[in-house]
Amino acid sequence: MKVFKFGGASLETIERIQRVGQIIQSYSGDQLLVVISAMGKTTNELEKVAQNFFMRKREIAAQLLYNVEQYHLQVAEQLLGTKEHNLFVQLQQFFTEAEWTLGEKPLRTYDYYYDQIVGLGELLSTAIVSAYFNETGITNVWLDVRDVFRTDDNFRDANIDWEVTQRQVNEKVLPLFNTASIVIAQGFIGSTDQNESVTLGREGSDFSAAVFANLLNAESQTIWKDVEGLKNADPKIFPNTVNIPEISFGEVIEMAYYGAQVIHPKTIKPLQNKQIPLYVKCFLDKELPGTVIREDADQRSLPPIIVLKRNQVLITITSRDFAFITEDKISDIYEIFHAKKIKINLTQNAAISFSCCIDNNPEKIELLIKALHQGFKISYNEGLELLTVRHYRNGLLDELTKGRKILLEQRSDSTVQMVVK
Ligand code: ASP
Ligand code: MG
Repeated sequence: MKVFKFGGASLETIERIQRVGQIIQSYSGDQLLVVISAMGKTTNELEKVAQNFFMRKREIAAQLLYNVEQYHLQVAEQLLGTKEHNLFVQLQQFFTEAEWTLGEKPLRTYDYYYDQIVGLGELLSTAIVSAYFNETGITNVWLDVRDVFRTDDNFRDANIDWEVTQRQVNEKVLPLFNTASIVIAQGFIGSTDQNESVTLGREGSDFSAAVFANLLNAESQTIWKDVEGLKNADPKIFPNTVNIPEISFGEVIEMAYYGAQVIHPKTIKPLQNKQIPLYVKCFLDKELPGTVIREDADQRSLPPIIVLKRNQVLITITSRDFAFITEDKISDIYEIFHAKKIKINLTQNAAISFSCCIDNNPEKIELLIKALHQGFKISYNEGLELLTVRHYRNGLLDELTKGRKILLEQRSDSTVQMVVK
C-alpha cells in the first residue's frame, strides 16, 4: 500500500487534473490511498466566506460561496463533459449544507464556523476527481474522511485521536480495498465525536496523508508537488539552488524548525515512528528523481541548507534598574511571551539585557510591550531578516551577508544563525 498526496496546485487546471490521473494510472499494480486537498486557491476563498459570515456580512459571504460553487461546477462539467451525472447531486448536497451554515446566527466561536465552512473545498475537489477518474476507467472509491479521522474540538488545529482513528481505519478503510485498489480521501479535515467538522491547520493535507500512512502501515508516502523536490533554499529568493536527492527525517525537522516552508512540520513524526519513507516528487514530470526523506539517508553530499525568515523584529529588553538579567527575570520574560503566544526565533542575553528575534506581528508586539513595560525598558528594530545556514561554509556566509549589517550572530558546528539588516 502506498499513500499519495496531491495539493491544490496539482488540481489548478483541467490539464493538471488529467495529469494526476495519468500518474495514478501508472501505479496500476499498487493499492493507493490518495489524499487530495482543495483545488487551487479555494481554501483562501472559503476563508473569506467564513470571515464575512462571522462579521454578519451575510450577502458578501453568500456571494463568495456562490463563486466557489460556480467554479467547481464548471470544472466538473468540463471534466465529465455533461451535467447529467450523480456527481452533481453530491455537489448540490455539499452546497446546501454550506448554505444552511451561512443561514445560522454565529453564536459559537469563529474557529468553529471556520471549520464548518472551509473544509468544503476538500469535499468538492475529492468528489469531482473521484467521479472523473471513475468515468475514465480509474476505478476508485470516494471516502468521507470525517467518518474516519476522529479529533478533539480544538477547531482550526484539531488533534487526532489515534486510537479511535486506527479502529476506524481498520473497520472502514481497509475493507474498501476489497472493491477497488484506489481510495480517494480529503486532506486537512476530520470530525469530533459530536460530528462537527474540524480542520487540522493550514496546509494540513501532508499531515493527513502521514496519518493514513502510519495507520495503514504503508510502504511509502509520496507528496506530489509542482517543484522538482526539496531544494537547499527557496528558489524564489536564492539563485543557484540545488535539488536534495536524499535527506533524513531529523534534518527535515530542523529545516522546518528554522522556518523552511517545505513540508507541513507535523508530517514527519507519524512517518518516522513507523519508518515509512517520504518521497517528494514533481507531478509535472514524474521521471525527475525528486527527494527521498528517510531515517538512514546518505547525507554525505548534503549541500549547505539556507533558510531565510523575512519580516523579523529584534527586541531588546533591559532591566530598568540596571540589575542583572538573571534566571528569575528570564523566566518572567518567557512567561509573558508564552502568555501572548509569541514564538521566539532566536535569543541572546547579556549582563543587563535580553535580546530576541520574533516574527513581526504588530498587534502581538504591542501587547508584549505593554506587559513587559513595568519591569523593563524595551527597544526594537524592525525590517530584519533571520538567516539560518546549516552545514555552512565560510565562503558562502560571506556571499550571503555581503553589504548587509549583522545585528546578532550565533554559531555551532553545524548551524549559523544571523539577524541581518
Ligand atoms: N487546502 C488546505 C490549505 O490550503 C489544506 C492543504 O492544502 O494542505 O491550507
Ligand atoms: Mg492547499
